[in-house]
Amino acid sequence: MPALCTLDTSLRELEWLGPARIRALERLGLSTVGDLLSHYPRRYEDRSRFDRFPTGDSEQPVCVLGIVKKTQLRRIRGWQRMFDAVLEEPDAHALSTPLICRWFNSAWVEKAVITGQRLVVYGKPKCTGSNVVIAHPEFEVVEDDTDVSVHVNRLAPIHRATEGVSPRVMRRAIWDVLAILDETTVEPIVPREIDATPRVWALRQIHFPDDDASLDKARRHLVIEEFFIMQLAVAARRAETLAQPGAAHCGPGELMRRLHTSLPFPLTGAQLRAIGEIRADLAAARPMNRLLHGDVGSGKTLVALSAMLLCVESGHQAALMAPTQILAEQHYLSLRRLCDPLGLRVALRTGARKEDAEPLPLFSGAADASEPDIFVGTHALLYEGAGITRLGLAVIDEQHKFGVIQRARLREQGAMPDVLVMTATPIPRTLTMTVFGDLDVSTLDEMPAGRGKIVTAVREETKLPDAVKFLREHLDAGRQAYIVYPLIDESEKLEAKAAAAEFAKWQALLAPMKCELLHGRVAPDEKDAIMERFRRGEANVLIATTVIEVGIDVSNATLMLIENAERFGLAQLHQLRGRIGRGEHKSYCIALTGAKVDDDAKGKLAVFAQTNDGFQIAEEDLRIRGPGDLLGTAQSGLPPLKIGDVFRDAELMTLARNAAFLVFERDPQLTQPAHSRYRKVLAESRHAVLSQVS
Ligand code: ADP
Ligand code: MG
Repeated sequence: MPALCTLDTSLRELEWLGPARIRALERLGLSTVGDLLSHYPRRYEDRSRFDRFPTGDSEQPVCVLGIVKKTQLRRIRGWQRMFDAVLEEPDAHALSTPLICRWFNSAWVEKAVITGQRLVVYGKPKCTGSNVVIAHPEFEVVEDDTDVSVHVNRLAPIHRATEGVSPRVMRRAIWDVLAILDETTVEPIVPREIDATPRVWALRQIHFPDDDASLDKARRHLVIEEFFIMQLAVAARRAETLAQPGAAHCGPGELMRRLHTSLPFPLTGAQLRAIGEIRADLAAARPMNRLLHGDVGSGKTLVALSAMLLCVESGHQAALMAPTQILAEQHYLSLRRLCDPLGLRVALRTGARKEDAEPLPLFSGAADASEPDIFVGTHALLYEGAGITRLGLAVIDEQHKFGVIQRARLREQGAMPDVLVMTATPIPRTLTMTVFGDLDVSTLDEMPAGRGKIVTAVREETKLPDAVKFLREHLDAGRQAYIVYPLIDESEKLEAKAAAAEFAKWQALLAPMKCELLHGRVAPDEKDAIMERFRRGEANVLIATTVIEVGIDVSNATLMLIENAERFGLAQLHQLRGRIGRGEHKSYCIALTGAKVDDDAKGKLAVFAQTNDGFQIAEEDLRIRGPGDLLGTAQSGLPPLKIGDVFRDAELMTLARNAAFLVFERDPQLTQPAHSRYRKVLAESRHAVLSQVS
C-alpha cells in the first residue's frame, strides 16, 4: 500500500505510476495530485447498461460492448490500409447484425485489437451496403481482470488523454490516486453558505460518479469552486486598486457645462447618468477604474470628453488612448472639433512619432503654460508615458480588446490616474463579470433621439445588380454610401492590388458618381483629405476596408454595402453598420455573401439581419465565438476554465462573485484566520494568471 498523498504531492513522488506515464501526464500540464484530480472528464459512458448494437445510421453516438469475432486488414488503392474488427454482441441472438469497427492507416490499432477481446466502442454508426460500420471509433479493451469495477459496470469517465496515457490509463491513475488521498488534508474552498457539498466528495464523484444526480451535484460544486477562485482573483485585483492612494481629479464643471450647451442636442438620460457616475469617481480620492460601454452611436465619446474636461479643469492632464494609429487620428480630429472652441490644447501622439529624433514635448517634464491639456495617442503613450507629470485621467479606448494589460501597465508606473475603459460595443454581462470583473460599470443603454431606422438585408452575391440599382436610386436622391470589402490579404502588395481592383469595379458600376478609396496603406494626410471630402459631400461613395469601422460620422451617408459579409465577425458587422442610421433619413445595410457560406456564417448573418440591438448582438457574438476564445486568452489575464461554462453556469458565476466580493468587503487584507486558505488559493491562481500574461 503506497503512502498517503495530498493535493500538493508531486506526481513524481508517486513512483508506482511509472516514469513514462508521469512524463506523459506532465505533457498535459499535470504535475501534482491536485492537477491530476482537476483534470476533469470530458464526458461519461454509462457502462452499467450498454446500448443495443445499432441496426442503422444514427446521428447520436452509441456506446456498445462487443466481442471481436475476427479482424481483417485490406489494402485499398494500393497504398491505404483498411482495418476492420467485426464485433458481436455478448448475448447475441442468431439474427443480430454484427458491428464493423473500421480504421484507416492506423498501425497501432491493428496491433491493439485482437480476436476474442471484449471492446467498449463509442461512435456514430453508418450503414455501408448491408453492414453497419463505425469509422474510427473511440474504443477500449476490457480485460477480464480486477479492473472491472474501475472501467465497466459504472458511469465511466472519459478524460482527455494523450500519447502514452489512454483514457483507460488515465482513469486507472486517478482511481489509484483517489485511493491514497489523505482526505483530512483537503481544505474546503467554497464557503459553506453557497454550497455545502464536501470538496473531497465532489472530487471523487466528478471522476467516478455513483449516478447522474451525484454527478450533477459534484459538478455544481466544482464549477462554483472554479468561479469562486476566479472571482477571488478579480476581487483581489479590485481591492488592491482601491487601496492605492489616489487623488481627486475633478474641477467644478464649468468647462463641461460650456461643452454641453454648445451641442445642438440634449444629452441622453444614460449619458447624464454615466457622467454623474464618473464625476463622483473623479472627485473621490481613490483611483477610478470604470468601464464605459454602450451600443455603437450611443455617444460614448461625449461622455469620455466630459470626464476629460472635468479632469483638465482640476489642473491635470487627460489622455485618450486608441489601439491603432488611424483610430487615434480619428479621435484627435473629433476632439479638436469639440475642444478648439473651448480654448483647450489637444495634442496627437502616435507610435509613428517614436522614429523622430527630437524628444516629444510630452516627455520634457517642464509643465509650462503651452503644455497640452489633452493627449490623444496610441497605447504607446502608456509605455513611454512615465514623463506625463500631471496625468489625471486615462481613457483607454479598447475597441474589442480588454485593457487589462494597459491598466496593469499604468499601475506599474506608479502613476495612479483615474482610468476609464471605453469599448466600441456593448459588453455581455458574462464578460463584465469576468474579464472586466474588477471594474465599476457605466452602461449607455439609450440611443440619442431622432436616429433614423436601419433596414438590413442579407443577399447572395448574384444579387449584386439589384443592389447596384438600389444604391443608384438613393445616390441619385442625394444620399451617400459606404462600400466595405474584407481585407483578404495582409501583404502590402496584394492589398493595394485588391483595393485598386475594387475601386475600378465600383467606379464603373456607379459612374458618374464620385467614388473615393480608403484603406490601411493610404498615407495619413491623404486619409484625412479623403474623409474630409466625403464628409463635405464632395464624394458620393466611400469604398473602404474596415478602417471606416470607427470614427467616421456622416449623417447623410445612409447606405452601406458589405461585400463577403460572411468573413466579418458579428460584432464587427454591427460596428460597421453603426456608421449609418446617424441622421433622420432611413438607412439601408446590404450584406452580400460569397458563393460558399457555412452554417455558422449563415446563423451569424441571420442574427445580424434580425436585430439592431448591440447588447443582443454582443451576447450572440460571444456565444458563437465561444468564451474559451475570450476567457482563455492571455489578453484577458484570466486562466482558462476547466469545468465551468460562463453561459450555462452564469447563475453560479453570480453566486460565486457575490461570495468572493463579500470576503474582500469584510476582510480586504485577508488577515482573518478563516481566510488564510484564500491567500493560498490566490497565490496559486495568480501564478497561473501571471504565466498567461507574461
Ligand atoms: P459611440 O462612440 O458611442 O459609437 P459617438 O460618441 O461616436 O458614439 O456618437 C455618435 C454620434 O452621435 C456623434 O455624432 C455624436 O455627436 C452624436 N451624439 C452623441 N450624443 C448625442 C445625443 N445625446 N443626441 C444626439 N446626438 C448625439
Ligand atoms: Mg465612438
